[in-house]
Amino acid sequence: MTEALYMNDSYLREWAAKVISVKDDKYIVLDRTAFYPKGGGQPWDEGFITKNGQKFKVIYVGKFSGQISHEVDKPGLNKGDNVSCTLDWERRYTFMRYHTACHLISNVLYTKANAKITGNQIELDKTRMDFSMKDYSPEKLKAYVEEANRIIKSDLPISVDYMSRDEVIKNPEFARLAKGLPEVNEFRIIKIGELDKQVDGGTHINHLKEIGKIEVIKTANKGKNNRRMYFVLKE
Ligand SMILES: [Zn+2]
Repeated sequence: MTEALYMNDSYLREWAAKVISVKDDKYIVLDRTAFYPKGGGQPWDEGFITKNGQKFKVIYVGKFSGQISHEVDKPGLNKGDNVSCTLDWERRYTFMRYHTACHLISNVLYTKANAKITGNQIELDKTRMDFSMKDYSPEKLKAYVEEANRIIKSDLPISVDYMSRDEVIKNPEFARLAKGLPEVNEFRIIKIGELDKQVDGGTHINHLKEIGKIEVIKTANKGKNNRRMYFVLKE
């Protein structure tokens, strides 16, 4: 079982690892990895796995049957190899900023408008969020986003915690996603100060100010359970 280093330290970008298995010359499983596998609306990480100075580019990372698998651009890695790994940090850090921004926006939408997130997709140049909201208008949405921008200025710290299934069930607002809880007994929680707690497996920044400023670039209205917004982050 691979140790998922990104779970406790989102800022780790260089580490040593050992190759546990290789499939079809290009799907690599490591004993420990900080490469985030695609999931929860956050894209996969890219970067390099290096063996004796030879670089293998990581082009895709996914989770298959519970295992984190790294797809590399060429054959040459073998079971038992000692390797060093580096993340494409600019790519990952962008995703971290967007992901924490999603949590903050979802907190404001939930507390101000009882809205739940029904979907989201983070990209390098923008992020999409879908949500349910009874009393919706683009103007109201923009006011909520302005509230999120005010909260960013308080620069609250973001931290990781763990909670039992019972504790999460007792606090349904921790799993604000409309789709319900996965079948596990321990949950990783992302906390924004004492303002927000969310069940989450993604990577996040340490301080709210790293988000910069949230700017809505487009909204769409596809019914009360499917309002849609696209936003970008400015420095
Ligand atoms: Zn999240």
